[in-house]
Amino acid sequence: MQKGKIGVSTENIFPIIKKFLYSDHEIFLRELVSNAVDATQKLKTLVGTGECKQELGDLTIRVSVDKEKKTITVSDAGVGMTQDEVEKYINQIAFSGAEEFLDKFKDQSVQIIGHFGMGFYSSFMVSSSVEVVTKSWKDAPAVRWECDGSPEYTIEDTTRERRGTDIILHVADDSEEFLEESRISALLNKYCKFMPIEIAFGKKKEWKDSKYEDTDEDNIINQTNPIWTKKPAELKDEDYAEFYRTLYPMADEPMFHIHLNVDYPFNLTGILYFPKISNNIDLQKNKIQLYCNQVFVTDSVEGIVPEFLTLLHGVIDSPDIPLNVSRSYLQSDANVKKISNHITKKVADRLSTLFKNERETYEQKWADLKLFVEYGMLTDEKFYDSAAKFAMFKDVDGKHYTFEEYKDAIKEEQTDKDGKLVYIYSNDPEAQYSFIQAAKAHQYNVMVMDGQLDSHFVQMLEGKLENAQFVRVDSDVMDNLVRKDKKKEWKITPDEQENLKPVFEANTPEGGEAMYHVSFEALSETAAPVVITQNEFMRRMKDMSQMG
Ligand code: ADP
Ligand code: MG
Repeated sequence: MQKGKIGVSTENIFPIIKKFLYSDHEIFLRELVSNAVDATQKLKTLVGTGECKQELGDLTIRVSVDKEKKTITVSDAGVGMTQDEVEKYINQIAFSGAEEFLDKFKDQSVQIIGHFGMGFYSSFMVSSSVEVVTKSWKDAPAVRWECDGSPEYTIEDTTRERRGTDIILHVADDSEEFLEESRISALLNKYCKFMPIEIAFGKKKEWKDSKYEDTDEDNIINQTNPIWTKKPAELKDEDYAEFYRTLYPMADEPMFHIHLNVDYPFNLTGILYFPKISNNIDLQKNKIQLYCNQVFVTDSVEGIVPEFLTLLHGVIDSPDIPLNVSRSYLQSDANVKKISNHITKKVADRLSTLFKNERETYEQKWADLKLFVEYGMLTDEKFYDSAAKFAMFKDVDGKHYTFEEYKDAIKEEQTDKDGKLVYIYSNDPEAQYSFIQAAKAHQYNVMVMDGQLDSHFVQMLEGKLENAQFVRVDSDVMDNLVRKDKKKEWKITPDEQENLKPVFEANTPEGGEAMYHVSFEALSETAAPVVITQNEFMRRMKDMSQMG
């Protein structure tokens, strides 16, 4: 047996690792299993190129828990390591990596490295000691390495029949939660569900003699070829729908999907789904899962995709998103910017195609798309520019218009004396029923703007659309638009009006005439004979004071 000392200046590196990774202890399993996957992939490559002449054999990665011995073991049949390699990769590289990391981040707070993966050494977050038993595919004796978390380790020859590696964690007292099968099972499901090599955790169970019993069959916990790794041409709509159900078993069916597949100038695959966005956007956010080569990394993609895209669901897989760094760094990373622009463009293209090729379907889906599109237009300039061509206005009769079409539709009737186009909208069609009827009687078009973001949206459009003024249907600005040339069919004669006016005015709410305006302008059977409007200026003042 040999003893050695790991080459690192910090004597007490492990307490630091524990502290830095505190919030994320559970990632140790992801790191170990992904190392096992890497080792297996390397072996497959070596066999593929003929460099290694061995049979592949069973390549299943096995994860097991021994509650009695308090161990967790991850075994693979991958390339394995020779003694030299253990010394090089396990002792040196990882530690120098850790040292560099500590140098870089020593002044910063813990949350900055939220998802920092420390690879192999993350196993010390949950272990009192770690054993590596490994046999290289090369003709070399098997080795056993052990380290109890101090910078000292032991290394010796041992026996292991087959090529491959076992990583055995002796679970620390404060981490015994990880000896629960259900916990490990949940972690495998979270991090390893789509890894590319089969992973077995125990055996499939069978209901027998009124209890569950193990069968001989491995319990494989992952799908090795998730659909985002396939070509769109190989897939049917049903495949996408089924994958969605795998990701979100409880969710409603999505409206449609986008299959992302880029290999230049960066690598990105993935499938994004447009969910039916019900009223509360906050509830819908952060459903996208981010993977790196089929290894789950995070489901909080803020900073990686533009804010409004966090409303989408699905999977993004990219080895080009640097994952071991802080969020603020991510936002300034050039690759991340490119990726994010690409996704934004793809999303806009998808909507644009649907709009152009299937306008009817698009209009039917507009109610569910509206919140998403408006959110994008409000928060992302680039998206605004593309979406301005396919965003819709809906009027009170349920007819849809693009911005351009709407402008054409109203320009005859709704230009005020200063030559401004007046967009009339209702933010509560039920309560504003009589105002809407009055406006319609004047041949004005009234849009429905009653969505969660519409008040912001209207404000933004007023700045963006040329020469546009937005007016609520219950405000008196509409009076300026009354077409003088129209023949009015009074229901109440001018004499009667003179008599009635004081009655109404006396009964208008507090503030009287200064705030409200009474008019008798019924133009059709259905319109109300008397309309009391609130001065637009006063209305805005009131809205503002209510906003606090
Ligand atoms: P990384 O995976 O980023 O290289 P790790 O700390 O996870 O860093 O692993 C360090 C190195 O140890 C790996 O690059 C690999 O060479 C070696 N290694 C770790 N686990 C295994 C394994 N199961 N089989 C073979 N080699 C391994
Ligand atoms: Mg690793």
